[in-house]
Amino acid sequence: MNELRPLSYSSLRTYLECPLRWKFLYVDKLPETPRPYFSFGRTIHSVLEELVRPFLVPEAVPRKSAGGAQRRLDEWHGEGPLVEGRSQPLSKEQLLAAYDRLWVKEGYTSPEEEARYKLLGENMLLRYYDHFLEEHPRPVAIEEYLQSSLDGIPVHGYVDRIDLTPSGGLEVLDYKTSRELSIQEARDSDQLAMYQVLVEQNYALPVERLTLYHLRTLTPHRTPARGAPAIAQLSQKVGEVADGIRTERFEPTPGRHCERCDFRALCPEFREVPAEERARLEALVDRFVALRREGEKVEEDLHRVADALHAEAERLGVHRLPGRAAVAIRRREEEWSYAPEGVRPLLERSGLIPRASRLDSQEIQRLVRDPTIDPALRREIAQKGGRQVRWYWELDPQEESD
Ligand code: SF4
Repeated sequence: MNELRPLSYSSLRTYLECPLRWKFLYVDKLPETPRPYFSFGRTIHSVLEELVRPFLVPEAVPRKSAGGAQRRLDEWHGEGPLVEGRSQPLSKEQLLAAYDRLWVKEGYTSPEEEARYKLLGENMLLRYYDHFLEEHPRPVAIEEYLQSSLDGIPVHGYVDRIDLTPSGGLEVLDYKTSRELSIQEARDSDQLAMYQVLVEQNYALPVERLTLYHLRTLTPHRTPARGAPAIAQLSQKVGEVADGIRTERFEPTPGRHCERCDFRALCPEFREVPAEERARLEALVDRFVALRREGEKVEEDLHRVADALHAEAERLGVHRLPGRAAVAIRRREEEWSYAPEGVRPLLERSGLIPRASRLDSQEIQRLVRDPTIDPALRREIAQKGGRQVRWYWELDPQEESD
């Protein structure tokens, strides 16, 4: 059994996608190949942290752990930072200098690719700079590490940014540098739901908005804070993942995500059979394939012969057909099904709902057969149902002839 360490959103997502990949990353701690979009994302996040930090007013928002010692919101008018020395934003030149200094070089496959990304980031940051200053945000935290728990399971994460909203609540923002992003992704985002939990358990103000900020288009995809059912759903996922990790369930789960998995050579789904084993295994696999095909053919023949026997039994009006090896006996099975909306009014009228509260067909059929119930009512209920008849064959070994 694994001792459970706090789950981050990315750990949760990795396990849900492929538990074996999760094991390679979080248990075996195998490194992943650096990728341009990771390096680019890290650089942009670091530069934005420098841009936003002078505006922070963390003292304006009460923290749960610090109790009543915090400043009240009405002590801060929200027109700008309160703390001396923090009010000067970076100039554009300083922003670009920070961009150069914080640039993460690894992962680019060529100088041309790196130059393309560099230019993209520069334009993105300069456009965002103007936008950010015009917005007059009230950030209370940037790249903040938070811990909490969901149904007793520890969770943690770095929240990109937390802002104070005009109505005195909190907005949780996550920056995205991806090519495209839709509002639906913000609505469905488990990442935002997890950040909401982290923020609500650490701050004494409610989370009002959850936002994925698309930097390429300067679009904040804003959604309201998640309600209790969505948090319960997240909690269930976290619980399932925690159980899987504790009980060491690390099965490979192949899919499109395998295309960007660095561990294909280690994964049973993709690992090659050693050359010296191939010939022997090929023979075994070919035998299996042949038997499988034979089995499918036998199955088809079986259905065809059973149908022919059925036709003969119907024609002769018999149920037992003798062969030289055994007697084939035809059996009948019937199943009733009832549409709940058709039966419910009858059961309600006659006070029988408590005896068939699930309104499933088996319960209703029991009522139809119950001799203690008025026969007229039983007939009426039966008329709301439909019957399906299935014939099948048994072989009677007792009647085998030699
Ligand atoms: S290759 Fe696919 S199935 Fe195998 S570990 Fe990677 S993601 Fe999982």
